[in-house]
Amino acid sequence: MSVFDSPAFENHEGVHSVFDEKTGLKAIIAVHSTARGPAAGGCRMWPYASGEAALTDALKLSRAMSYKNAMADIPLGGGKAVIIGDSRTDKTPALFEAFGRAVDGLGGRYWTAEDVGVSPADLAHARKHTRFVAGLDGHPAASGDPSPVTAEGVFRGVRLCVERAYDRDLKGVTVAIQGVGHVGAWLADKLHAAGARLIITDVNPAALAQVAGRTGATIVAPDAIFDAEAEVFAPCALGGALNADTLGRLKGRVVAGAANNQLASPDVGQLLFERGRLYAPDYVINGGGIINVAAEIAALEASAAFDPAWVESRLQRLMTTLGEVLDRSIVERRPTHEVADELAKARIAGAEAARRAA
Ligand code: NAD
Repeated sequence: MSVFDSPAFENHEGVHSVFDEKTGLKAIIAVHSTARGPAAGGCRMWPYASGEAALTDALKLSRAMSYKNAMADIPLGGGKAVIIGDSRTDKTPALFEAFGRAVDGLGGRYWTAEDVGVSPADLAHARKHTRFVAGLDGHPAASGDPSPVTAEGVFRGVRLCVERAYDRDLKGVTVAIQGVGHVGAWLADKLHAAGARLIITDVNPAALAQVAGRTGATIVAPDAIFDAEAEVFAPCALGGALNADTLGRLKGRVVAGAANNQLASPDVGQLLFERGRLYAPDYVINGGGIINVAAEIAALEASAAFDPAWVESRLQRLMTTLGEVLDRSIVERRPTHEVADELAKARIAGAEAARRAA
């Protein structure tokens, strides 16, 4: 199958296959759009069963980054890199150096960062050959762990959804959090401080014990989280949490959490809407992390220091956008994910038109 025939192609500006015989690097760097600025998105290392599977993943993830960056209204387009390999056994410094050379070859059209299977230590090897790497520590522009900022955005997003769906604040509202890792744990602390009651689950007992100790949260088994008596379900673990079975079990009206790709398939967004659930589109509500990364890229480009005030202003704007998506969904009687996709596409098309006119 050619790139152009892939169902995930969606008008990518560039799709770059990278092979380095010496190190065994096999990677795909997908650049969906640079209309709003250089494409930015993490690098994932995964043992894909085939080149086609890697291509499909790269294209889907890259397009998703375009949408996420457009909704966060940051001056970045969407891209993603995937390295074909097992991150537990196939990593070498030379492999990431070769990846760095490939990123550099794109001349700044793509900025890379961490994603599944790739750590800051790996990216430090890539950085030896390119400056287009975000997410490294030890310099004034460094943005650090994005999780607290992601959690702050999700917290504000949950509050907004509860206002829309229940016309009340968070005091006394019960939130069921699936996954109390980096983002979920911060989110739990913020919700607890705002007076919410928590029901939490995770497959990691130590993480559960820590969060429950701090917040008084009730712990339930992983599968029981879908049946929790809670106004809000906050998926903060892996993707695909929402499917026809699980959404039928949810008790509350709000679904709002940090996880990427929460809908197992697009029709689940329609089902959520038909069943009266207010769903905060994942790539909108979890945009805090990429805003943090964008601040680092801006600082690196300007040889300046990281600017937390810029992050806060974009976070506020992100919440305005989320509010617009929720309101339009209610007024136009359409699922939120549809409204969000439409808005993201319009923002990208607007930037593309401005670029052509310039
Ligand atoms: P993490 O790995 O730190 O946390 C995920 C947690 O989910 C872990 O504690 C894990 O044990 C738990 N988990 C895994 N499977 C589970 C299951 N079946 N049931 C219950 N718990 C389970 O990851 P994170 O950085 O906190 O990110 C959480 C989600 O948010 C991911 O989907 C990630 O892609 C997304 N996200 C994160 C950021 C960020 O800034 N970290 C930004 C945007 C989106």
